[in-house]
Amino acid sequence: MAEGFSSSTSDGEFSSENSSDLSYGSLTNLPEFLIPRAKEIRSLLLQNNSLTKLPDSFGLFINLISVDLSNNSLASICNDILHLKSLRTLIVRNNGLKNSSIPKDFGMMPSLETVNFSGNELGELPHQFTELKKLKSLYLGGNKINIIPSSVKNLRKNNPLVVKFVQDLVHDPPSLMELAGRTIKIERVRYTKYDLPENLIQYLKSAQRCVNPKCKGVYFTSRVESVKFVDFCGKYRLPLMQYLCSPSCSVTPVVSCQSDTETDDEDSAKAMMRRVLLG
Ligand SMILES: [Zn+2]
Repeated sequence: MAEGFSSSTSDGEFSSENSSDLSYGSLTNLPEFLIPRAKEIRSLLLQNNSLTKLPDSFGLFINLISVDLSNNSLASICNDILHLKSLRTLIVRNNGLKNSSIPKDFGMMPSLETVNFSGNELGELPHQFTELKKLKSLYLGGNKINIIPSSVKNLRKNNPLVVKFVQDLVHDPPSLMELAGRTIKIERVRYTKYDLPENLIQYLKSAQRCVNPKCKGVYFTSRVESVKFVDFCGKYRLPLMQYLCSPSCSVTPVVSCQSDTETDDEDSAKAMMRRVLLG
């Protein structure tokens, strides 16, 4: 209980007058006594209760800056949250939230800086998060996210982690030499040391296979980096960097790999993980 509270109060923003600690109860709604003070409240601690949805009067707390709703049984977040224009921190760890539980216009919330959806049922990165203009910290551990969509580029550009991530994902188009080399490899065009200069022969030898099991492609220096989250020993979900031959390879075939040929894909991911961890 003290964790969220102390971090919220460390900047002196919240006092006992404007914050309300209602954590560790069995609340299914907000107590009546709080409603007349709704506009004064800046911080609400509602973690470890029995809420299955946002409290009925939630939209009245228009000056709320921080709310912790962790460890409840929230199955949805209603549109009332969109009234909280000052809300900077939203913590909803360990609920039952899915992608469909998040309001369509959630990305329009003007002040949200910290969003913590760890330990929920998200199947993909909600596109609304990439639209949040002030987002600085995003916590999504313990969900079921397999793919990070290209819309991650839309995340605010001044976050150093995001900047590096997006830069790493930028794809340079392959050179003509690369494209010619790929065709020679894929079509198994025969050549001898009398046909090509030594440097081209060495170049052709450096071809790497695309890791997409549905793609027979190769690449030389132009590859697409894609982050995939894989189960490891059924215990952890680890990010795995995989290299693909082209951006289109990462969009359609890999997605279908994950639904249609889960086993193949998981096997190759496990093999690669073994290589990463064991050398
Ligand atoms: Zn490929």
